[in-house]
Amino acid sequence: KKPGRFYNEPLLDFAVKADREKMLKALSDFKASMPVNVPLHINGKEISTSNIFERVNPSHADQVVGKINMGSVDHAEQAMQAAQTAFKTWKTVPAAKRADMVDKLADIMTRDKFKLIATQVLEVGKPWAEADGDIGEAIDFCRYYARHMRELASPLRQGALPGELSQYIYKSRGVTAVIAPWNFPLAILAGMVTAAAVTGNTVVMKPAEQSSVVAWGLMKMIVEAGFPAGVINFLPGYGEEVGEYIVNHKFTTTIAFTGSKAVGLHILNKASLVQPGQTHVKRCIIEMGGKNAVIIDNDADLDEAVDGVLYSSFGFSGQKCSAASRVIVLDEVYDRFTDRLVEAAKSIEIGSAENPKAYMGPVVDKEAYERILGTIAEGEKNHKLLFKANVPSNGYYAPATIFGNVPGDAKLAQQEIFGPVVAVIRAKNLDHALEIANSTEYALTGGLFSRSPANIARVKEEFEVGNLYVNRGITGAMVDRHPFGGFKMSGVGSKTGGIDYLKQYMEPICVTENT
Ligand code: NAD
Repeated sequence: KKPGRFYNEPLLDFAVKADREKMLKALSDFKASMPVNVPLHINGKEISTSNIFERVNPSHADQVVGKINMGSVDHAEQAMQAAQTAFKTWKTVPAAKRADMVDKLADIMTRDKFKLIATQVLEVGKPWAEADGDIGEAIDFCRYYARHMRELASPLRQGALPGELSQYIYKSRGVTAVIAPWNFPLAILAGMVTAAAVTGNTVVMKPAEQSSVVAWGLMKMIVEAGFPAGVINFLPGYGEEVGEYIVNHKFTTTIAFTGSKAVGLHILNKASLVQPGQTHVKRCIIEMGGKNAVIIDNDADLDEAVDGVLYSSFGFSGQKCSAASRVIVLDEVYDRFTDRLVEAAKSIEIGSAENPKAYMGPVVDKEAYERILGTIAEGEKNHKLLFKANVPSNGYYAPATIFGNVPGDAKLAQQEIFGPVVAVIRAKNLDHALEIANSTEYALTGGLFSRSPANIARVKEEFEVGNLYVNRGITGAMVDRHPFGGFKMSGVGSKTGGIDYLKQYMEPICVTENT
């Protein structure tokens, strides 16, 4: 239906006055609607509960953005029943029709872009351009998965023996439990949900507590796009309660999770326990954290390197699974690079995400803020502090922070912080740099700045990461151009926005007919 190349959704340019004005209007309109009431949405019906979680704006902690009706185990059971029943008919809907609905969803997101950006700015404190990137990625996931499903829907002939027709066919599996994080609140949730639904599965989606207003926006668009009742059910609630329940449920055939290592490993463990009446071995697509490093070679272009590291470390306050939190600098350029990084960091503006000038907004909530401040305080006791930014005091603002001469095996250089904190590590030579780079349990993203073809070739071969970036920043993967995901303790599963992703949600069947 849509031949030709795949194109990524273009990003907005807020230097353009008209777009800036539309954004300011969207923000003020959205603020006028706060607090947003977020119900559950199960089997086509909105449901209210007596358990309300108040989500505040991390840029201004006195503003309530949403009142989230938190689901209980009973609601989770209703959602599972609805998804199980809807599967009987949804799996018979032709793939092309399912793909059309997902494309319609992308069209609605494009139409409502400014409103969707405003929601993220206010609910999770994402700066404008970062939020626009998230919406663009959500649109890309929808379009990419819709197109790919149309291709996968055609049976593939196997062999060429006369008198035998053997075909490879993908079939849907059943109910998918989708459990999402808050940091790419629309893109990651929409990516997992549309992948599951376009492949003919039904879905119970459990958004992160911190981004349930964004997720409710997605649910409303799903209804508008025409998905039948029960195919995609919306279950806001606490992870340990409803998340746990849908992971354990006997109807669950696939679990699509993105989040922390601790929760991901816990889910894998629980999913391996077979419940009475369970019909499938649960397939787990589990994307977890990272401790991503950028290596700075002796001959690196330091202007490019400083710029790339700065954005990779401090973009969205370091709250990206792909963010740089280690910079491994070869001895010869260590002092020059570090001085320039610190100078550049001084120019970072930290402030309300509503302010288009803010390079960095707040971190997501009080818990994250306290955890990050605790990590910085501990770092100050054990390591050399090179830079700590000043921050406003009326929201959850964590300072951009740089530590120097951190040993590669220090806690600060090994544990995911998920905040704007960077450990600069000195390496004797490239061997040593690679040894440090590969010394964490994670393998998500990594980068190299170098002008030496031999060193670039070597790092491509030896740096153990799912996504390696050479002479550029290490965040901002684009659907199709940079299929995304890690291995080792960063997760199991195939890359999002790539050619193998949808296959995980399906069962390949081989049908052989003697003709
Ligand atoms: P989290 O693990 O705290 O929460 C993720 C989701 O799991 C939430 O919806 C939460 O409610 C739910 N949950 C919590 N306990 C549960 C349980 N016992 N059973 C079932 N569900 C449960 O992660 P977060 O703070 O939302 O996100 C940050 C983390 O996500 C970071 O570690 C980051 O690196 C990672 N991440 C990874 C990727 C990737 O593609 N690899 C992308 C984005 C974020």
